[in-house]
Amino acid sequence: MNGDKSHIMLVEDEIHLARGICFNLEEEGCRVSHFETGERALAALEVEHFDLVILDVMLPGMDGFQICRAVRELDPRVPILMLSARSEDSDRVEGLENGADDYLAKPFNLVEFLLRVKGMLRRSSWYRPEPVEEAYRFGANEVFLLSYRARTAQGEIDLTEMEVRVLSVFFRKEGETISRGELLQSVWGYANDTETRTLDNFIVRLRKYFEPDPAHPIHFQTVRGVGYRFSRKGV
Ligand code: CA
Repeated sequence: MNGDKSHIMLVEDEIHLARGICFNLEEEGCRVSHFETGERALAALEVEHFDLVILDVMLPGMDGFQICRAVRELDPRVPILMLSARSEDSDRVEGLENGADDYLAKPFNLVEFLLRVKGMLRRSSWYRPEPVEEAYRFGANEVFLLSYRARTAQGEIDLTEMEVRVLSVFFRKEGETISRGELLQSVWGYANDTETRTLDNFIVRLRKYFEPDPAHPIHFQTVRGVGYRFSRKGV
């Protein structure tokens, strides 16, 4: 009956905050399952499908980073938004290295939180690849956007929903400079002027997967002061 409602997993041990989040997401038409520990959340993930995982970092038992890695093993694709009371950049990097797709520091603005969630849930058609599972090839890599996987020099990897979205934009606009704002807006649904390091950390992740030398990228190039450019040939 509610089959088309987005199903969100919330892992948060602060009950007041969790209640507020559940209330507001339900107002937006989502179905929310709330768990106070990672252990319970992971048990649910083995039997249920979720469209988005919202994960607090500081939890009793497993912490958010450990849970994030475990979620990725059970569901390589699901978008993961991490929440943390600590706003240090190292936390953000650690979250993204453990497989998260975005990061929000507490205390956060409710409107911004809801925009972020909607951006991650959005499944618009424009970024969907053609329904032909032909590999996109560049360098030593073959990327299969439809089945969320890639063959790289390091072996076969699973791609997340957000990675597929970013790659889809890069492949479509091969050779063009794409501004940070455009990438953030089209992939994450950010407002144009949001300050964030999420994109940059995400690019680091893509370079680790696909670049022959991630420290000297040839495919995912930085265009200083503007954004990024993807080069298929690597020049
Ligand atoms: Ca907490």
